[in-house]
This record gives sequence, structure tokens and C-alpha cells, in this order.
Amino acid sequence: MTETTGRLVLNAGVASDTGRLRTTNQDSYAILPDLGLYIVADGMGGAQGGEVASRVAIETIRDAFQERTAEALAEAVARANDRIHEMGDAPDLRGMGTTTVAMAVVTEDPDPDGADDGERPEHLLVVNVGDSRAYLFRDGGLTQLTDDHSVVAELVRDGRITEEEAEAHPQRNVITRVLGVYPQVTADLWPVDAVRGDRYLLCSDGLFNEVTNDQMAAVLRRLGDPNEAAAELVRLANEGGGRDNITVIVLDVVDDGGVAGRASAALAGERRGSSSVDLAGFSTAVDGDHAGGGGPESPAPSRSERRAVRKAERGGRSRVTWRVVLFTLLLLGVLGGAVATIQWYGTSTYFVGFDGDEVAIYKGRPGGLLWIDPELEDDTGIKRDEVPARYLRALDAGHEHSSLADARTYVSNIERDIIASTPPPTTTTTAPPPVTTAPPAPAPVN
Ligand code: MN
Repeated sequence: MTETTGRLVLNAGVASDTGRLRTTNQDSYAILPDLGLYIVADGMGGAQGGEVASRVAIETIRDAFQERTAEALAEAVARANDRIHEMGDAPDLRGMGTTTVAMAVVTEDPDPDGADDGERPEHLLVVNVGDSRAYLFRDGGLTQLTDDHSVVAELVRDGRITEEEAEAHPQRNVITRVLGVYPQVTADLWPVDAVRGDRYLLCSDGLFNEVTNDQMAAVLRRLGDPNEAAAELVRLANEGGGRDNITVIVLDVVDDGGVAGRASAALAGERRGSSSVDLAGFSTAVDGDHAGGGGPESPAPSRSERRAVRKAERGGRSRVTWRVVLFTLLLLGVLGGAVATIQWYGTSTYFVGFDGDEVAIYKGRPGGLLWIDPELEDDTGIKRDEVPARYLRALDAGHEHSSLADARTYVSNIERDIIASTPPPTTTTTAPPPVTTAPPAPAPVN
């Protein structure tokens, strides 16, 4: 599907698959060439919650992104957070959330002093919450554009573990930012100068947890058709294990509308700084280039991006001053202290048990405590009749863990045993990666 988006012309291909282990596909995506908008969302929580959250994110962002500006994109993501958070009050959707990574063609805002002559420059803007990713494939090399908001990515950025350790880390699926779970969310905005010949990749973690960067780059080098490339990447993810839903959008820049001429050659392949915009307006941080490249070749954010940041700084939609917020928080803190202690005790653990016929992770204590019922944290998609017999007694009683990460490790051990006892497909050449059972370092988990 080729579409003219002003002067930037993109050609998109997509593939999405449930994978080999899950029973439902909770990823959603949108290809909206008329809006210049492309989105991948990876939903989580509850039996239906994940599917609903990712779909609502896509629909809300689509409906809210009508002006092609950075500000409109940031606002659309904030609305999606509000909407999912509201819907999460329903008992069967409680705690649902979703990642989102979107790429949009944006223009500078119209000059308020001058006539809009239709010649406003266009560029691409990536917005990211969670651990879905955007990549740039340029000059034969693949570069990750987004930072994952995940426990392991933060440990890597802090230098506490290596990239290799992260790949096998038991907490690699635990994300630190998510759309819809909290009243506010901070999204990262990454401006990108599109150059003709660039290929951009938007994907859920079901791709890069199963496929190496080299494999991805090889596919993007070999297959010119974006639909074929996306389908091949999904096929490789399934061949690598297919333990999660997989969604891939490939975006080719077929006409950059002269952007290449404006972009400095020094920019090629380099990572750009991002603006972190707290969408509820309580804080704003503009952080530098994570790759350390900073410097004069890293262009300043555009006017519309600066405006989005300024809007967040002055309180944006909420118009609440810091003073009021602090006072309210202090008051609530005192009143809530006693309740919170009991709440903490009742919800500080997790257990793995059955949700009907399906293995699920619950927050709380088996059987509950006082007014606190266990809360469904995540359905795993594993059916009772797939579970090796030796796990059944523990699961029926509820197998307790001190952290969500430990519970997920336990689930991945079950998954590993299921995979180990299933004959591999004839095309599989990759053994499942080792699952570490060492106790994870304590880390902030949502
Ligand atoms: Mn996923």
C-alpha cells in the first residue's frame, strides 16, 4: 500500500501472529496512510484485558491524531492512557494495560503570524511507552531507535548487567511503563529525519525475544517487499520458539520530500535524543542522547515538539499546581498509611494458579486476606491439559512468589518444560534459550 503523505511517501507492510504458545493474539496494530500514522500495541492483563487494551489504544490514538503535529501525537497517547485507565475499572478488565510504539508523519505547526503556504517541513516522529520497539535499517545496519521501558533495559542502561545477561534474564518481560494502568504516563518522543531508502521497523517483543538483530537485518537486506519482509520476520520468530504474540510493521521511505538534502551526513545511522513528556503534566524531562552522541549534530527538537514539552511543563490538561498536588499527596499519605500497610501485606505477593482452565498469575495471597481478594495479574495462555502433571498440585493450591518476576520465572519454567516435551517443528534449528533460575536482583516492578 503506497500513499502520498504530503511530501513524505511511505510504503508499509505488516504481519501479526499469535505465536506457538499463546491461545489469543493480544497485540494490535494500525496502518493508517491517510493519517500518516502506524502503530503497534502489545496488550496485557486479564483474560480479555490485553486484547481490549491494545485495541482501545490504537482506536483512541487514531481518533485523536487529526492534526499532524508532535503535540497532537503526545495528546493522543495521553487520551489513550485515560481511556484504558477508565475502562480498567470494570471487574473483568481490571489492571489491563498495553505498550505502544507509533510512528507518525508530522509537520511543524502552522506559523501563527504567517499564512500557511502548505510548505511546512515534514519529518517522522516515534512515540514509545513500554517495551515494543522501533528500529531504523539504514546503510545495511539495524539501529534500535527507542529505549525499552523494562526492568532489564534499565539495568543495562545503568551498567548493572550486560546485553547478553539481559537476554536470558528472568525479568526480561517486566515493563516499567505501560499505557492504561496508572492515571499518568510518561511517553518518549523520538524525532527522526526520514531519508529515502530507510526502512523502519515497529514490533512487539515477540519478535526481538526470538530473533537476533543480525537475523532481522538479513531479512531487511534480502526482502524488498515490506509485506514479505514482515511475514518472514514473523516466521523466524515462530521458528525461534514463538512464545509470545508477534507483530511487525515494516515502513519504507520511498520519497523523503527533500529531507535527505537537509539532513547532515553526520546524522546517518546515529541515534537521536528524545523528549520525555509526562503526559499528565506533573514533570517534564528533556534528556540527552542516550548513545552519548549528543553534540551539535543532534538537531534541536522542532517547534511543535518544544511546544508539546512546554505544554506538559505548564500543566497541560490538568491545570493543577505542584503545591496542590504535594499537599493532597501528603494528606492522603497520612490517612492512607494504616490501610496501606494491610493492603501491602495482602498484595505484596504473587501466586500462580488456575483461572478456570488456564494458568494465570495472581497478585495477592491464595484465598485472599480480609477485604483483599487476589487480583488476576496475567493470563499465560497455558491450558491445564498442557501442564506437566508434577506442577498440578502446586498450581491448584496456588504457588506463592515474593515478586511478579519470580512468578513469571516459574511460568516460564512450566513453558520450557512444555516446549521440551513437544516435538519441535522440522524447520526449527534453534534450541530454546536457557532459562535462568537464579534469584533476580530486587528491582522496581510496577
Ligand atoms: Mn509481548
